[in-house]
Amino acid sequence: MTSLPGKIGLSFYSHRVTAAWPSGVVSFTFDDVPKSAFVAGGAILERYAVRGTYYTALQLAEAETVVGPMFDREDVRAAHRAGHEIACHTYTHLDCDRAPESLILAEVRDNAAALASLIEGVVPENFAYPYGSVSPTAKRVLGPLFSSCRGIRPGINHGTIDLADLLATTLYDVDFDEVAMRRLVDRNRSVRGWLIFFTHDVVETPSPFGCKPGQLEALVAYAAKCSTILPVREVVAALHR
Ligand SMILES: [Zn+2]
Repeated sequence: MTSLPGKIGLSFYSHRVTAAWPSGVVSFTFDDVPKSAFVAGGAILERYAVRGTYYTALQLAEAETVVGPMFDREDVRAAHRAGHEIACHTYTHLDCDRAPESLILAEVRDNAAALASLIEGVVPENFAYPYGSVSPTAKRVLGPLFSSCRGIRPGINHGTIDLADLLATTLYDVDFDEVAMRRLVDRNRSVRGWLIFFTHDVVETPSPFGCKPGQLEALVAYAAKCSTILPVREVVAALHR
């Protein structure tokens, strides 16, 4: 990440969403990342000719976790080839909450190095805080290193937004409410905002942190019809134009 241009500088804490998307913009993001999010989730997005953002913790490759079997290296390469964004989590899924600065830095450097060893030349531009733990230290250290950092506080990013703690809404089976989700997409459209969803596994019997393929598809279909869908990378790039 140190090779990133300093395009954000000192103003990373606040930025105005431009009027680039008159119908609002929606990002679908996946954390950790389970294999099902790459395979099933990616296929759903591609059916609607859109792409997602995968905040990948590369040490979790092929691990078995609470959100199911994790990605393998070819999943990451295939997603990258298909145009999805491979973004950064901490390497071991370290919780940044009480971690010292040196450890946080080592984690994101290790993750970037692991990604570069998988896909030559790829530098992760955006980050998501594991567990949504946005400590003052983590924010101060990571904010300048990445184009954006995403948390897990729900809401619509609009007006002056915090690129070091982007708001994001869960897309989980446990509290999935399609009508409420559609309303949120509508509200995002009316304020010309940036609505970010996040989930983990995408399977018929999801973990408490995942969703069913049909739920993701319903939301992607609705957002594709009435809004713009872009990976985080492309939204952030447009904010700086
Ligand atoms: Zn995570």
